[in-house]
Amino acid sequence: MSESLLVEQVYPRLPIFLQNAACWYYGKKEARTRFGAEFDRRLRELLDSERWHAGEIENYQNEKLRQIVRYAYDTVPYYRERWQALKLTPDDIRCREDLQKLPVLTKEDVRNNFERLVSTSVSKQRLIFRHTSGTTGKALHFHVTKEAIAFQWAVWWRHRVRFGVAPGAVHANFTGKRVVPLDQQTPPYWRWNRPLHQALLTMHHLTPPKISSVVDFLNSQPFEFYSGYPSIIHMLALHASETGLRLKAPPRAVFTGAENMLDFQRRAIQSFTGAVLTDQYGCSEGCGNASHCPEFVYHEDFEFGVVEGLELQPGNPARSILCTGFANEAFPLIRYEVGDTGVWRGDGSACPCGRESRVLLRIEGRRDDYVITPEGTRIMRFDYVFKDAMNVKEVQVVQERLGEIVLRIVQRPAYSAKDEANIRHEINRWISPQLAIRFEYVDQIEREANGKFRAVLSRVEAPQHVQAEQVTH
Ligand SMILES: [Zn+2]
Repeated sequence: MSESLLVEQVYPRLPIFLQNAACWYYGKKEARTRFGAEFDRRLRELLDSERWHAGEIENYQNEKLRQIVRYAYDTVPYYRERWQALKLTPDDIRCREDLQKLPVLTKEDVRNNFERLVSTSVSKQRLIFRHTSGTTGKALHFHVTKEAIAFQWAVWWRHRVRFGVAPGAVHANFTGKRVVPLDQQTPPYWRWNRPLHQALLTMHHLTPPKISSVVDFLNSQPFEFYSGYPSIIHMLALHASETGLRLKAPPRAVFTGAENMLDFQRRAIQSFTGAVLTDQYGCSEGCGNASHCPEFVYHEDFEFGVVEGLELQPGNPARSILCTGFANEAFPLIRYEVGDTGVWRGDGSACPCGRESRVLLRIEGRRDDYVITPEGTRIMRFDYVFKDAMNVKEVQVVQERLGEIVLRIVQRPAYSAKDEANIRHEINRWISPQLAIRFEYVDQIEREANGKFRAVLSRVEAPQHVQAEQVTH
């Protein structure tokens, strides 16, 4: 029986104790892959190297780059052929700046050349197959090694250690995975994954009728931290606050990732948990990462790979994020275009935390998540427009055709025509005076298959000439 059939058909019908046992079994397997001698060694090294000076960091990265480029050339047919066609050899890549000589690797390249991107020097037994569903719904397949997974977890745990939690800390993980069957109408709305020291809470059960059971559970024992998508933790904060519920033992920190945290989400989570909110940026393909330091500044996790920016338009500070990973020997990704954009700090000033690794000022959403205005500008973020719209519970901006957007809004009880007029006014003022706005009132906003919330959803093909615009407030 296939794994997906087990998860979809068998698991939901099991009694709760067997579902917990299934989570335990999965957790045991995952713990063996993630945490072991390799993880311990990597984490120890990472806690030391994050204090290196800029010169040491540069030397380290250039050395690792030369290694991975040579390795890819020697053992990965796709790179060898593509680079040879461009008359490039590993000797052309001596340092980080030389990366620009190499072509960008798109997701489409990976899909079309999956077989030829596998390194011939890694035995079949060592290959671990992975796939991402992706927000576009197009699956992407790749391989990793056990060592690469442990390295990535060590990078993620270094971020957590910066905020005072250590491996083994009991935590609550808020997930889009359906570990609690959707039709369950009585508690417990959570499952335990003991080997990973986590309680799993699913977004589908963070609803007003069930929220007091969930908060009781969170109050029933100390959880050192919460982790998960900001949009899911936001649902907890929102519904619990509205019901007047309080946390008795707030977590020390809330760790988010995978989505951009929007301002209204940040405010709600902070006010409900009273905890420190910190974020990290990475991709499931495991080739680049950036994590907050205690100053809430994103630092490139330089030991794990290069996170570089590809200019999209001259003068536009937002660049397409390209990652080159050092860890994955099975399926090296070199100049892999993740599909997000970032803004780097260019002035060379040091972060007050003392770390000298590269800094990203902002990371933005997927590159195709934007609205095109009649003026031809692209708008990626709308949260500042809704900053004062207190009667809006949640909103998603959808563009289906040029010249118009649809606002899908979940209203609070006090929402009125006045709110609608205000939002219209704000959008016409900040985004475009000509953009037509349609309001659609819904009970809830659907998540992607993987549980991700998309603040902006575009179904419009972008004309080539549109000019990107960065709106910041
Ligand atoms: Zn810093």
